[in-house]
Amino acid sequence: MNAGEEKSQKTVTNTFSWPVFDESDVNVVTEVARSGAWGNPDCSGLVEKFEKEFAAYCGSRFAITCANGSVALRLALMAAGVRPGDEVIVPPYTFIATASVVIECNCVPVFVDIDPDTYNIDPVRIEEAITPRTKAIIPVHFAGLACDMDRIMALASKHNLTVIEDAAHAHGGSYRGRKLGTIGHAGSFSFQSSKNLNSGEGGLVVTNDEQLYDRINSLRNVGRVKGGMWYEHHFLGCNYRITQFQAALLSTQLKRLDVQTATRDANGRYLTELLRDVPGVSPLVRHEEVSRHTYHLFMFRYDSSFFNGMPKRDFVGRLIEEGVPSSGGYPYPLYKQTVFQEKNFMCYAIPEEVDYTKVFCPVAERACSDEAIWIMQHAMLGTPQDMESFARAIRKIQEHC
Ligand SMILES: *Cc1c(COP(=O)(O)O)cnc(C)c1O
Repeated sequence: MNAGEEKSQKTVTNTFSWPVFDESDVNVVTEVARSGAWGNPDCSGLVEKFEKEFAAYCGSRFAITCANGSVALRLALMAAGVRPGDEVIVPPYTFIATASVVIECNCVPVFVDIDPDTYNIDPVRIEEAITPRTKAIIPVHFAGLACDMDRIMALASKHNLTVIEDAAHAHGGSYRGRKLGTIGHAGSFSFQSSKNLNSGEGGLVVTNDEQLYDRINSLRNVGRVKGGMWYEHHFLGCNYRITQFQAALLSTQLKRLDVQTATRDANGRYLTELLRDVPGVSPLVRHEEVSRHTYHLFMFRYDSSFFNGMPKRDFVGRLIEEGVPSSGGYPYPLYKQTVFQEKNFMCYAIPEEVDYTKVFCPVAERACSDEAIWIMQHAMLGTPQDMESFARAIRKIQEHC
């Protein structure tokens, strides 16, 4: 094959499918359909069964399902007892819900930059951002890589803050052998269709705190309380329940999660190894406390100076042409969104003096514009040969740029 032919051939030939399911998933959903018990107004039955299974899997006392991962974060924050005007520390390199739920609780999101090695919230910057009004921190285990929870929990206890882990990328991941989501006061998960455990939509909060559990349990079910009457509403909640279809699917999907997570973790380590001597490509740093990375995304930092100055978006275009399921991720940090820049919060109140046009997090800015490349989780479920093909694709782009 001459150089021209090699260049025109796609390097990655496997196509990766998601979600993964078989007849067992189809059967449980069919059974729910046949039963006629589609909804679950008291969150018992299959919903409670899945909650117990997920809590046991995480090693947590309680788990509460709800409509989606955004609502899960919101309920955890509401239940933590935040008051209007309280400040909540969040990273700027994340999905919007991490910050928007703070505003929905009439609190102020305070954006704290990420660590350039991990792209997770930087504990040094957290400490600098703490004020007497700080009430909570929402660390995001971005891509499924655990945050520096030792330092975050130490800061939280020193300053009496609530920690809500956003584990939307991190089902089955762990830190010093403890499941992500169970280290802070509460942890939230998403079961949206792109996530590592999915039922189309859905969310869940884990906690070991019985008071938080009771409150979240009530808030997701229109403020009803255990032992109370149907027309008895104690708190300003809403209907955030999931259906029996979702719960049935989650129970069967959960059976696959541990093996899938182990596969992604092994593939992630292997791909990191394969890319070690590719100049201009640096996988994010995995510290030894990270006992299991879920690789919801395999992320690496791209340095265009080793690719003849090729801009990140062109590099991503080439990766996709080569068949690598990949993306350049967020084009700009969260605080740059119009909703924050113009404070388009509708009925929610934020103090006059808060001005997101003044926020600047240089590490997140650089990650978005120049550096961060994502390979998607379903591709990380492939074989070691697939990982080799990703590394080959990257080398090929480097040779032909
Ligand atoms: C997906 C996601 C959420 C919210 O989940 P939804 O189920 O889509 O509402 C929250 N945080 C992060 C980091 C996410 O990626």
